[in-house]
Parts: sequence; C-alpha cells; structure tokens
Amino acid sequence: MVKMENVAKSFGTLEVLKNINFQVTKGEVVCIIGPSGSGKSTILRCLNHLERITAGRVYIEGELVDERVGGRDQLKISHKRVSEICTELGMVFQRFNLFPHMTVLENIIEAPVTVKKLAKEEAVKYALELLKKVGLEDKRDEYPSRLSGGQQQRVAIARALAMKPKIMLFDEPTSALDPELVGEVLEVMKDLAREGMTMIVVTHEMGFAKEVANRVLFMDRGEILEEDTPHNIFSNPRNERTKSFLQKVL
Ligand code: ATP
Ligand code: MG
Repeated sequence: MVKMENVAKSFGTLEVLKNINFQVTKGEVVCIIGPSGSGKSTILRCLNHLERITAGRVYIEGELVDERVGGRDQLKISHKRVSEICTELGMVFQRFNLFPHMTVLENIIEAPVTVKKLAKEEAVKYALELLKKVGLEDKRDEYPSRLSGGQQQRVAIARALAMKPKIMLFDEPTSALDPELVGEVLEVMKDLAREGMTMIVVTHEMGFAKEVANRVLFMDRGEILEEDTPHNIFSNPRNERTKSFLQKVL
C-alpha cells in the first residue's frame, strides 16, 4: 500500500534520511521507534508529500507519488493527482491541530464537505458515526478548547477517518498527553487496528507496539537499523543501538 525505495532526504547539508527501504501492506500495523531526531516524523512527512524527497521513490497504492534520480525531479504526474492520492492517507499529529473556532462536528465535516464535496447531511451522518466510535457523541457541539487533550486527540482521529483514508499515519499521537489520558487514545487506535486499518505509528508507547504492531522499525540517525516482529525487537534486538535505546525506554 505504501513503499519507499532508496529514499534519502536532506535539509541543506543535513542528511536526515539515508537509504530508506520499507513497505507496508494492507491491514498491517507498523510502528516506528527510535531516538529524537532520528527521522521518524520526516518519514511520515515524505510519505504524504508534506516534504519532497531528495532521492529515491515513494509509492502509495502502487502509484509513484515522488521520484528523484540524480538530484532531478522525475515525477510524471500532476500535483493535483498527487494531492488526490494523498487523501488516501489520514494523518494524526502529536498536537491535535483542531480548528479552534469550529465545533467538534464542524471540525470533522470540514474536509469531506470542502475537499470531497460531500453533501453536508451525509458528512454529518458519518461524522456522528465516527464520534460514536471514538466515544464522544455527546461532545458534537463543543469547541476544542473545552475538551481534554485525550478527547481532542480522539476528535482528531475521527476527523482523519472522515476522509475514509486507506492508511492512517500517526506521529506520536499520545506524547503531548497527560499520562492518565494516554490510554483512551490508544484504545481507539487498537480498535482501528482490530478493524483491519493499515497503520503506520511513530510512538514511544512500547506497550502499544508490543501488543498491536505486526512489525517494528527501529530508526537511528536517519536509517532504519532494524526491522522485525515486536517479539524479536523487544526480546532479542540484534543491533547494539536498538539494544541501548530499548534499555533507556523500557
Ligand atoms: P522526535 O522524536 O524528536 O520527534 P524525529 O525522529 O521525528 O524526532 P525528525 O523530526 O524527523 O525526527 O527530524 C530529523 C532531523 O531532521 C532532525 O535533525 C531535525 O532537526 C531535522 N529537520 C526536520 N525538519 C526540518 C526542516 N524543516 N528543516 C531543517 N531540518 C529539519
Ligand atoms: Mg518526530
């Protein structure tokens, strides 16, 4: 469903991704772990075109959405087509990024109505289903500032799902939350995984990775150093840097 081939990314002279190769198939949950600054967010941002790569190829649903060879942009499809393909990806960030001047319901229907041109009635109907799914039906008319961090993040998940994405990308969705609010967000994510959603999750929640991931990628200094089942990564890491990272976080 998504694939990166020999991807590199630099900001000026700073090389933040090197020779990245991985793919995620339908229904898989892949967790990306690693120290701060290792390039985890940059991988997600290159997947959904928030950043352009400096070398390699990026595929979404079998379509080439970014390609650079010998420093030259080789992409043959239009920006419009790329944006269309990227709507297959739902993204949830560390900060909830809800529109503060819109109610919960308005936040959720915004993109389906303006981008997908869905009839408002239909968008509202689906938004209410999603609010039920994340356990916030009673908050439909609240403004984000009146919700807890965990509730805001659950709305952010509902908002991403409203576009009916095929793949969900999460960038440390619980790391800005008070500890007692982490669980409710992880529960919603576990439900999604159980329903078969394809997910790429950057996280420091090793318990979540152990329980839910099919595969874990360990990144350090712009490289994927190890890729394995959670069982093998956590109980028998092969790379020294994976070992020392896990010793610090577990
Ligand atoms: P964290 O766990 O702290 O979120 P991360 O693994 O997500 O870290 P990235 O945010 O991907 O790391 O950053 C990787 C490197 O790229 C860092 O050195 C960062 O400073 C650098 N970087 C990221 N975005 C930019 C940018 N827009 N311009 C310049 N450097 C950037
Ligand atoms: Mg990050």
